[in-house]
Amino acid sequence: MNDDGAGSGAPEGDAADSALVDAATFAGVPDEFQRLWTPHRMAYIQAGPEVLRKECPFCEAPRKSDEDGLIVFRGRTAYALLNLFPYNSGHLLVCPYRHIATYDQATDEEVAEIGALTQQGMRVLRQVSRCDGFNIGMNQGHVAGAGVDEHLHQHIVPRWASDANFFPIIAKTKALPQLLGDVRRAIADAWNV
Ligand SMILES: [Zn+2]
Repeated sequence: MNDDGAGSGAPEGDAADSALVDAATFAGVPDEFQRLWTPHRMAYIQAGPEVLRKECPFCEAPRKSDEDGLIVFRGRTAYALLNLFPYNSGHLLVCPYRHIATYDQATDEEVAEIGALTQQGMRVLRQVSRCDGFNIGMNQGHVAGAGVDEHLHQHIVPRWASDANFFPIIAKTKALPQLLGDVRRAIADAWNV
C-alpha cells in the first residue's frame, strides 16, 4: 500500500485507520493541550464503543483497584473518581454506588454524601492544582448531555484563569500514559490530609 502520504490514490480507509495516524503528521503546531488529551482518547479508541458500553462504568469502577478505577476516595454511599474523558485535567466525578439515573432518586444519605464529597473534591483540587474556579453540575438524561445517562454523576471541573494545563511539570516530564495515574495519586493523597 502507498503510505508515503504523497496524496494521489490514497485509500479511503476507515475511521479506525485514520485514528491511528501519527500525530506528527497532523496539520498545525502540536501544543501542550494536544499532548495532554491524546492518551485518554487512545484508551477510548482502543477499547471501542461496544466494549465501553458492555457495563455501566460507574458500577464497574468501584469493583476495580483505586488505580485501575481512577478512584480518589470511597465513601459509604458514594465515591469520587477521575473522569477518563476530562474536560480539564483533574476533572472529578462524584457518583452514588447505586445505579440510579437521576438526582431525585437519591436517598437523603446519598444526597448528603454526594454534597460532602463535592465540597472535599473542591478543597483538594484547589490545594493541589491551585485552580481559580469550578464548574459543578449534573447532566441528567441524554438530551441534557449526560454521557452515561443511566448512572447519576456530579461533575467537578477545575477552572483556571487561562485554563492552562494542570500539573505542568508532570505533564512535561513524565510519559503521557502515566498522567492520569499521577493526577489520581496526587488527589487521593491530598483527600484525607
Ligand atoms: Zn451504574
